[in-house]
Amino acid sequence: MRYSVYRAAFETLALTGVSPLIRRVSRAKGVIFTLHRVLPDAPAAFSPNAILQVTPEFLEAAIVKTRAAGFDIVDLDEAARRIEAPEKTKPFVVFTFDDAYRDNLQYALPILKKHNVPFTLFVSTALTDGKAEVWWLALEDIVAASTVVVIPERSGPRYADAATLAQKQKLYDELYARHRTMPEPRRVEALHALADRAGLDLGAHCRSLIMNWAELATFADDPLCAIGAHTVHHYELSKLPEDTMRFEIDRSRSIIKAQFGKAPAHFSYPIGSPVAAGPREFAAVKELGFRTAVTTRPGGLYHEHAGHLEALPRISLNGRFQKERFLDVFLTGAIFSMLAGGKVNVG
Ligand SMILES: [Zn+2]
Repeated sequence: MRYSVYRAAFETLALTGVSPLIRRVSRAKGVIFTLHRVLPDAPAAFSPNAILQVTPEFLEAAIVKTRAAGFDIVDLDEAARRIEAPEKTKPFVVFTFDDAYRDNLQYALPILKKHNVPFTLFVSTALTDGKAEVWWLALEDIVAASTVVVIPERSGPRYADAATLAQKQKLYDELYARHRTMPEPRRVEALHALADRAGLDLGAHCRSLIMNWAELATFADDPLCAIGAHTVHHYELSKLPEDTMRFEIDRSRSIIKAQFGKAPAHFSYPIGSPVAAGPREFAAVKELGFRTAVTTRPGGLYHEHAGHLEALPRISLNGRFQKERFLDVFLTGAIFSMLAGGKVNVG
């Protein structure tokens, strides 16, 4: 529903050429792009997480078009400086990648290096250890591979049909919503029960998708890359007790410092929506001393964000809008702020 509203707005703006006008009149100083996976293949018919992937060609087009439109591509430190500057600054774009998928090494890094693009890679340390669950893709893979999914429930197993595309989509939506609303320990337990019945090894699944520390070292050693913290387990922070929430944030920074000798200055909230991270999480991140932290709340960056660097909006460069003409719209963070209610939402 939400996506269709955005898509309608994108189509209208992209096709009428209104977006360059908005860009000129916008007060936005810049935008931060969110990316996850970079893969050459078109997503399969059933791929509910396709919104998390773009092609290498699209990434390259985004870089070229960003610069051609007059934006600097900067890192988060420079973005923070420009946000803090009260005067008008040159418009900028920041590229960020969440979760450290292995495809970033094969498909994104060569393009980022070719175009000399600084970027931030947000790492969940237990995913990198291969000891947490990429649960949103595990659910997808279980449903994709099954015609019937056995769902262990208190009253006994439930057999959910997943033979047709429509059945798969409906079941994925149901399972995703259930896992989002369960407390995290219960969600982990439920996912393992589901995976056991489906014969999916969650550890191997995680290790197949996420870079290990040796692979990540390639990024850590690259001057274009800043490694950012993304918690230990990729839990939805708002669901956690206060002490666990703070531990997840602080510990991920300590582990990355122990691995690479440098403490991350930037943080990304897992999932990052208003439900997943709010004032309590923002306060903790600020108190722990991060320079900036990014959400997935859509919006452009304004001087007002200087007082809220721990809750910066981002714009998802995602697979649902993978057409070059949408890039003009992506580059106007203003449209997201307008859709969100006409003003900058810093929560
Ligand atoms: Zn993430």
